[in-house]
Amino acid sequence: MDLKDYKNVWVFIETARGEVRNVGLELLNQGRVLAGANNEKLVAVIIGKDLDAAAKTVTAYGADEVILVEGEEYKDYNTDGYTNAMVKLSEKYKPAAILFGGTIQGRDLAPRISCRLKTGCTADCTDLAVNAETGDIEWTRPAFGGSIMATIVCSQTRPQVGTVRPGVFKKAQPDDSKTASIIREEIRTPAEEIRTKLVDFIKSAEEAGVKLEEAEIVVSGGRGLGKPENFAIIKELADVLGGAVGASRAAVDAGWISPLRQVGQTGKTVGPKIYFACGISGAVQHLAGMSSSKIIVAINKDPEAPIFDVADFGVVGDLFEVIPVLIEEFKKI
Ligand code: FAD
Repeated sequence: MDLKDYKNVWVFIETARGEVRNVGLELLNQGRVLAGANNEKLVAVIIGKDLDAAAKTVTAYGADEVILVEGEEYKDYNTDGYTNAMVKLSEKYKPAAILFGGTIQGRDLAPRISCRLKTGCTADCTDLAVNAETGDIEWTRPAFGGSIMATIVCSQTRPQVGTVRPGVFKKAQPDDSKTASIIREEIRTPAEEIRTKLVDFIKSAEEAGVKLEEAEIVVSGGRGLGKPENFAIIKELADVLGGAVGASRAAVDAGWISPLRQVGQTGKTVGPKIYFACGISGAVQHLAGMSSSKIIVAINKDPEAPIFDVADFGVVGDLFEVIPVLIEEFKKI
């Protein structure tokens, strides 16, 4: 393998029924930095059906080139079809790096593709940079239970592959006047090679409403809530603010709320404009998922709780007294 044959930074653009998910747009913004460091192109790769609108979106968000693979067999995400398409594309174009979101799709696809291409995969990254001397990507991720941040390089093989947590990078401002070259690749995956079939699409109640990773306001509850029914007060505050509900792992492990709501090292990474931490102590593993929030508001009855070290606004008090007042006041706005 001659590493010099491999060029450009690819971002796998995740779509849900044709709609581009935010994580791909966030990765385009950071991909621009990585590609720029090596004078390479930033390429968005989209697999699906009827992708013209998605191609327009990624162009506005800064892709230099867009590669589209369209077909009935790619209408809904399936592991076999998408792997086949991505592997064939990579073998043809030889990208230097492929970035995936650390989502259910990305976590499924990235390791498979890296295995087929006989290269490495760094999962669940929280930062990406380029080594100024070698041009290799430096992938940073928590290791040893979050006690260290490890920087990993894939120096011997290409492409460099990895998944990045949603919410770690910000999207660029879209610019509709931007243009990109669009390449349409005809790659077929025979039906018999696709071993799974989507029977039905049911939106889970937990996923209804504002998406946690994409919310501008997140209201999270922790063990301080005491019991599952008390999440109602968190939901009420989130609803009044048009935000999403989050939770600490302690609340999730207690079975009070779905794991889909967990924020933190082993949960989701969020970067909202305002993050409310209610009855959450502020363990390092929780902070790993929310510390990039613009404004952090902590409500905790323990003035020594570590969450106050990162909070912009702190209320020392009983959340059952403080939150109802907030709800009433926000209702007036
Ligand atoms: P606690 O630490 O018990 O804090 C509860 C807080 O509520 C206290 O500060 C208390 O003063 C306050 N409180 C109690 N009653 C009230 C009241 N009435 N009003 C106001 N305040 C009140 N944790 C995560 O959150 N996300 C993760 O992704 C995650 N991943 C982990 C991964 C690993 C490998 C490990 C080892 C741990 C992980 N954890 C994670 C767990 C983490 O270490 C903490 O145990 C967890 O975050 C604690 O949750 P908590 O703050 O809700 O509970």
